[in-house]
Amino acid sequence: MSQEFETIRHDDEAYVMHTYGRYPVALDHGFNAHVWDVDGKEYVDLLAGIAVTSLGHCNDEVCRTLEEQARRLWHTSNLFYQRPQVELARRLLGTAHFGRAFFCNSGAEANEALIKLARRYMTRIRGKKDACDIITLSGCFHGRTLGTLAATGRDSLMDGFTPVAGGFKQVPAGDLEALAQAMDEKTCAVLLEVVQGEGGVIVLDDDYVRGVEALCRERDVLFCCDEVQAGMCRSGRFWAFQTCGVKPDIISMAKALANGLPMGGIMATAEVARGFEPGSHATTFGGSPLVASVAAKTVEIMVRDDMAGRARILGERVMDRARTFMQAHPGCISEVRGKGLFIGIELPGDAKDVWSRLLEKGFICNLCHGKTLRLLPPLTISEADLDAFMETLEGLLLQN
Ligand SMILES: *Cc1c(COP(=O)(O)O)cnc(C)c1O
Repeated sequence: MSQEFETIRHDDEAYVMHTYGRYPVALDHGFNAHVWDVDGKEYVDLLAGIAVTSLGHCNDEVCRTLEEQARRLWHTSNLFYQRPQVELARRLLGTAHFGRAFFCNSGAEANEALIKLARRYMTRIRGKKDACDIITLSGCFHGRTLGTLAATGRDSLMDGFTPVAGGFKQVPAGDLEALAQAMDEKTCAVLLEVVQGEGGVIVLDDDYVRGVEALCRERDVLFCCDEVQAGMCRSGRFWAFQTCGVKPDIISMAKALANGLPMGGIMATAEVARGFEPGSHATTFGGSPLVASVAAKTVEIMVRDDMAGRARILGERVMDRARTFMQAHPGCISEVRGKGLFIGIELPGDAKDVWSRLLEKGFICNLCHGKTLRLLPPLTISEADLDAFMETLEGLLLQN
């Protein structure tokens, strides 16, 4: 490791709170699916800042929009109308069946807004005074605020932070019977990720997701999807719920929404959006002209260039190759899961060693729960980069 890297690491440890287990790399710059560290070493980036820079690092068109807007207007507060936020909402609504959008600054904040809207719609508009409970699934991840920690319901994440918010229940993912039994007159909504990202790329069965929606309709409960990680074309459709043919009442979004600038939001049907009226929910920064203009450009490009189709084709290519290898070399890979360019390759043994050798060889991916390599590359990544990754991974697995 170079002196420059050691200085950065030392200062980070000295000055920044110790909330992250960081990779032993200090990144300096990037272009599309490639990044370079402070010593000039090049990497293929199959993580994209955790599903964020989906159009690649420093995308030319997005950069131009950012530069132009940076000289025009950054921030107005939400006391004023402004063009970029309306433009973004209009483009997003064009991707699905929703009627209204709201913008905030992160995934956790988006889920907070989703939960608040669901409760307010049910209790105020629908007059179901006790309907405040949100049901989530085992293995989910919805964020780190006190409300979304409660939604996530994982003891290890709540340790030392209790009390978290009340009004949450959790049922085993995949078990419709358990969900049916958990629902009562206090149930407000069910919230799920069609592909559980932090859970280790767990793909919920399409029939199960349709079953959850049907149960919600039958019991008069809102059906909501957390699209923070799986949304924005990553799954092979613009929204992951579209791969199952369901129509949620509310979704949350964030990560890739502004291709790297912090932004979150929710979309709801026009009916459910009635739950919010002026003064009921707000944020100072949410949907600022700077971030919204970048997000509007991101959505425009994703639709124009059919990034969902690209994710579907490239994802199938990677998963087919991984499954073929798995069959040809029993014991090397235990499972390949995913939708589009949202892929988990689970290894039978300790995957840490494989992961760190990939990093040494210049391939960045994420390791989930010590056993699953999670791939979330930019949707603009080349076939050649994906092939090079698979080639290297197969080589490492054969050596093991
Ligand atoms: C990352 C993530 C969140 C939290 O987003 P932040 O921007 O980190 O607050 C919520 N839900 C899902 C599914 C996520 O992947």
